[in-house]
Amino acid sequence: MGLKVEINFSNLPKNLIDTLRSSAQELGIDRMAIVGGVIRDSLIDLDVSENLQPPKDLDLVIEGSTIELAQMVQEKLGLTRVSISQENRAFQTIKMVVDGLFIDIARARAEKYSSPAENPKIEPTSIEEDLHRRDFTINAIALDLNTYKLIDLHGGLDALKKQELTFIHSHSVQEDPTRIIRGARYAARLNFHLSKESIHQIQATIKQWPWEWNPTHSEHLAPPALATRLRMELELLLENEPWEQALEFLQNWGGFLLLDKRLHKDQKWKKRIALALDLGLTPLTALIAGSSNPLSLSKRLQLAGKQQNLLKELDELQSFFKDIYFSKKYINWKPSDWCDAIENKNWHSNSIALAICLEIPLWESLLRWFNDWRMIKSPLSARDLIKKGWEPGPGLNEELKRLRRKKLNENN
Ligand code: ATP
Ligand code: MG
Repeated sequence: MGLKVEINFSNLPKNLIDTLRSSAQELGIDRMAIVGGVIRDSLIDLDVSENLQPPKDLDLVIEGSTIELAQMVQEKLGLTRVSISQENRAFQTIKMVVDGLFIDIARARAEKYSSPAENPKIEPTSIEEDLHRRDFTINAIALDLNTYKLIDLHGGLDALKKQELTFIHSHSVQEDPTRIIRGARYAARLNFHLSKESIHQIQATIKQWPWEWNPTHSEHLAPPALATRLRMELELLLENEPWEQALEFLQNWGGFLLLDKRLHKDQKWKKRIALALDLGLTPLTALIAGSSNPLSLSKRLQLAGKQQNLLKELDELQSFFKDIYFSKKYINWKPSDWCDAIENKNWHSNSIALAICLEIPLWESLLRWFNDWRMIKSPLSARDLIKKGWEPGPGLNEELKRLRRKKLNENN
């Protein structure tokens, strides 16, 4: 143990490391280390990946009180530079922001999972022991801020050289299946591969499905790592990473089975998400739209109410247009008839967009509505008609509709 490395801290806030060290000393905190992304990325030969960006967050692990340390750093650097944003008392973690850099301070802890995918019970421990609870060996390399030596107890440096992601231990996926998604994020971002044992661990664990909950149960009862934590990791994947590559890894490893069986086999997600992004939809909603029960999955993942609503409307839209398709009612429809059919239902335009991404029957006409028809207004406004002598009321509204219909059908 103890490779001494030069890590370039020049892009960290001024005096940050010195202030952390002096504060820790004053508080009697003997051990403090940087861990996670900043260390991993500093050790990666930058040629390995074009996707690396400057650190957005710094992860610290200490043997002592996180809140006391954060408060002393704030006193020393001042309120204008430092804000303390969030404390998780149960896990004894603190989030703070120093000159725009997000810093997570965690008290070194050991985790015990009483049931798979639930939140673990924790106990304070040493930095060395803390590394055992982490996801991949490359993320479990710590830089001791007293000695400036690396602590690499799980072969992280070796894995970095091999560009390999390996879970720290054999129950990793069972304890927290969101680590599969984290793996897909890192593999895509860093251009790394998952080790054979780790792929095997994923597949064996999913096959065995060690979690008490399964998708036939009520979505409200799903444990955290199969519910909201899964959503958070998926959002990070879709919003911050090369998502096509990351989702491809995830699907190949069998990771979509955490979400849904139909998605596991889905061949259309790439096209669907790309179109969703073009149409201004959130990519996760588009991914979920291809599952066997999108609304139930969106509830399980606790998507925002708005997104859940789109998926609910998608369901209605699908049966509505399926019916029109099979009855062939649409055959002689003019644009104005399409507008009537779509607009009378008061569906949100994003629900129509989602239906387009899913290529439901008649989606081409929905796309014409989305891109053109819905924007076409009557050539005369209500005010114009009143000037011409129309009385406000239902008759005027009908006339506006008639004029719009005429324009729609003329132009198209
Ligand atoms: P990034 O560059 O995305 O910030 P990171 O490795 O710093 O990468 P964070 O999400 O900031 O990732 O987490 C910090 C560290 O906490 C990780 O490196 C890892 O050691 C640990 N960690 C985070 N989430 C998990 C998890 N679900 N299971 C185990 N360890 C985790
Ligand atoms: Mg980080």
